[in-house]
Amino acid sequence: MTHDLVLLSRAADFAARQHVAQRRKGEAAEPYVNHLTEVAALLAEATGGDDVVLLMGGLLHDTLEDTDATWEDLTQRFGPEVATLVAEVTDDKSLRKEERKRLQIEKTASKSRRARLLKIADKTSNLRSLVRSPPSGWTQERLRDYVVWAEAVVRSCRGLNATLEAGFDAAHEEARQRFGA
Ligand code: ZN
Repeated sequence: MTHDLVLLSRAADFAARQHVAQRRKGEAAEPYVNHLTEVAALLAEATGGDDVVLLMGGLLHDTLEDTDATWEDLTQRFGPEVATLVAEVTDDKSLRKEERKRLQIEKTASKSRRARLLKIADKTSNLRSLVRSPPSGWTQERLRDYVVWAEAVVRSCRGLNATLEAGFDAAHEEARQRFGA
């Protein structure tokens, strides 16, 4: 059996290469990989780092949505558990943005425990980014809407992990105060 640290290193390497040309939307245009390592670190801290599938999912969670990687690629490289987890947190890009956002609020509660933990970490990282470096083209209203929406998604995942939720709540409070949501 391959050692967990080998698997995790491979996932980090693959994620960094898949997202190599991408930047975050904020003014600082941080490398996209910073978001992925932040999500994985939040998950590792909150769970004691004992679930390598979850941490690999954290690193790879945007590969299906935002890169040319396929479910088959992920299955072949990292196994079906990781591929399925990533698929669970991937929006259907054939749908309109508003519909995708509505579905996240509606469907996240019925997803696996790992998928819900990942959603909380993802939204925490996104709210932190919004505060640190808001996208220059976003109006105050759009920023506010995002903060309200992120909380609505996380509300459907609560009761799983107090550490992760406390981290989200702190990021949400800061974003709420900053943008008046
Ligand atoms: Zn993400």
